Order: sequence, then structure tokens, then C-alpha cells
Amino acid sequence: MREDTTMQDQVRDAYLLTPGPLTTSRQTKEAMLRDWGSWDAEFNEVTADIRRRLVAMCDGGDDYDCVPIQGSGTFAIEAALGSFIPKDGKVLVLMNGAYGQRALKTLDYIGRAGVGLDKGDYLPPRGDEVASILAEDPEITHVVAIHCETSSGILNPLSEISQAVHTAGRKLIIDSMSAFGAVPLSAQDIPFEAVVSSANKCIEGVPGFGFIIAKKQALHDAKGNSHSLSLDVHDQWDYMNRTGQWRFTPPTHVVVAFHEALKQHDAEGGVQGRLARYTNNRDVMVAGMREIGFATLLDDQWLSPIITTFFGPEDPNFEFKRFYEEIKSRGFIIYPGKLTRAESFRIGCIGQLDAEVMKGVVAAIDQSCIAMGITNRSPGQATRDIAV
Ligand SMILES: *Cc1c(COP(=O)(O)O)cnc(C)c1O
Repeated sequence: MREDTTMQDQVRDAYLLTPGPLTTSRQTKEAMLRDWGSWDAEFNEVTADIRRRLVAMCDGGDDYDCVPIQGSGTFAIEAALGSFIPKDGKVLVLMNGAYGQRALKTLDYIGRAGVGLDKGDYLPPRGDEVASILAEDPEITHVVAIHCETSSGILNPLSEISQAVHTAGRKLIIDSMSAFGAVPLSAQDIPFEAVVSSANKCIEGVPGFGFIIAKKQALHDAKGNSHSLSLDVHDQWDYMNRTGQWRFTPPTHVVVAFHEALKQHDAEGGVQGRLARYTNNRDVMVAGMREIGFATLLDDQWLSPIITTFFGPEDPNFEFKRFYEEIKSRGFIIYPGKLTRAESFRIGCIGQLDAEVMKGVVAAIDQSCIAMGITNRSPGQATRDIAV
């Protein structure tokens, strides 16, 4: 068993070019070396500070509050949907990938009426489409939008979507899991009811809890809606406000690590600082990948600074599993693609990564192609046709 984590150990760990869990800093990992009592005042102050910092991060002021909830991001999404949508509500889910589909599936599980606008694998849902669906269906009470749809890496046009929802007098719930903390989201510009994210994405914490930032009015009104005791956002909020504690065992080590990660986020210049680093990561990586012959699924206009989808090369020697292993043996872990109609893979830009790491992964991919005898790295004509 290892007794400590030296820098050397960290260098030997492969970099995670994935959408979370991701490569975290040494300080963040070291924050987990202490044990905490879950009802201790010092720990409660950490929770309170996290909540304050997250509300401030989206300009929530006095109108919004933050409720952390145990589990992965999906638990927090399910908690938000079950708590904010009344049993007789109806939801429009804007889908262009796996996470939109998961939201619709969740509604089905928890017995809430839902309809989907399905744009397929990668096309953005547009404001005018949302406006016309809402005009035609007055029963729709809420709209769920995915900020960055991590399946393709597309940054969805949240501003025009939120305008359409607001104009129609409906409520917007945003899954900003993979974007919050790195893509600006201000309650002053984007009128939203609730936004959901988690510890292990752009704030660069470790996995273990999600959080919901919602209008205080919505948190009040959520009383009695939830289908689930452990996922009742109103109850968690109310209890936390009264006692300072989480209702059930909090992931204490994860919480203090997240607090440490938030301080580093601040020191980096907050959302703008993080956005700048991730954007540079993406630009360096995408330019390098194009230079060695790969093509992105999306046009530059839609590329997020979070994760990028590349087409698998047409070359008959390409096989994802071996490709992955070759790259891993060079110290980088990439992510499989999620397109239903074309071979693809993804490279993330988030976590403790910088331009040097991004150049490193491009070099590792180039060497892996050579090792596998892949000479033609461009996508086949059929896949090129679906690029946007
Ligand atoms: C990561 C992610 C989630 C949550 O996934 P978990 O595996 O439950 O943490 C939800 N939505 C989006 C867009 C994501 O990127």
C-alpha cells in the first residue's frame, strides 16, 4: 500500500481526458486525508461556504439558494425533476444526445408527463422550435435543457432557449453538469428555475455529490412533490437551513475536497479563468488533431470547451479498443464516442490539464496510429456527410 502521494505518483497516473471523474490537483486529493464528523460545526461551515460560493458563481444573489445532494450527477437531476415538477406538471425535454434522453427516461420512471424534442445525435435545439412547441401545447409547465450535451460535446444555445421559455411563461431546468463553473451562466441573463451540476466536473472535485441551484420560491413550492425521500430537494434544503447538516450521511471527504477545489477555482480567476484555460486546451488539441489528419464532428461554432468528438478514421486498421489501449500505454485516457451512426471517440479538455498535456495527447494519438498501421485518419465519406 502506498503511504503518500508524491508528485512522482501523480505524474505516473494517466491523465484523464474524459468528462469526469477527471484529473484533480494534489491539494484537492490531499484535502481528503482528514476525517470529519458529519454534524461537527467546522464541517457544517464548509458546507455553508460551498453553498454560498456556488450561488455567487451564477449571480444568484438573494433569490437563489444551493442544495447539495448525495450521489452522482444523475441522482441530482432525478432529485430536481422529482422535486420541482408537480405531479400534474408536464415537461418538454430538449434532446440531442444521451443526457437529454436520460432526462426523459427519468421522467417516465418518476411518473411525470414528458415530451421530447429529439434533434438526434448532434443538432442543436433552437429557440424558435421551442417557442412553437410551447405555443402549441399550453399544458407544458417546464422545459429541461442540457447546457453542454457531453455525448457530442455540443454547447447548446441556452440564451435563445431560455428566452423562448421565459416569453412563453414556462419554467426552465438546466442540466449544466459538464459546463457549470467553466461556461458562464448568470441568473441575471438566463432566467432559470433550477440548474444542476456535480462535484466532479468543471469545479474539479472528486465524485460523490451533485448540487442544485434554484430559486428560493421554487424550493419552497417543491414541498410535497418528491417521489423519493432521499432525493427530496425541498426536504434536504429545509433541513440544511434549520440544522446546517445534510439529512443523511454526507460524503465528508468529497465535500472538503470540493471546498478546496472551489478555492483553486477562485484563485484561477473564477469561471472566466477556467473558461480561458479550457478554451486554450481545446484550441491546442483540436488544431493538433486536425494537423495529424483527424476531423471533428462539429463545426467550430458548436464546439464546447469541455469535450470534443472526433470521427474514427476510415482506415481498416482502426479499432477503438486497441486505439484506446495504445494511447493509455502512453499516459492518456480518452473516451469512447456516442454517435449512433458513425465510429467516433471523444477527448475532454477539463480537469487539471494544460496546453502541454493537450499536445502530449495529440502526440500519443499520432504514435498510436503509427503503431497500429493507420495511415488514413480522415473519416469516410458517409460520416463526413453528417458533420455539422
Ligand atoms: C456527467 C453528466 C451527467 C451526470 O452523470 P453521472 O454519471 O450521473 O455523474 C448528467 N448530464 C450531463 C450533461 C453530464 O455531462
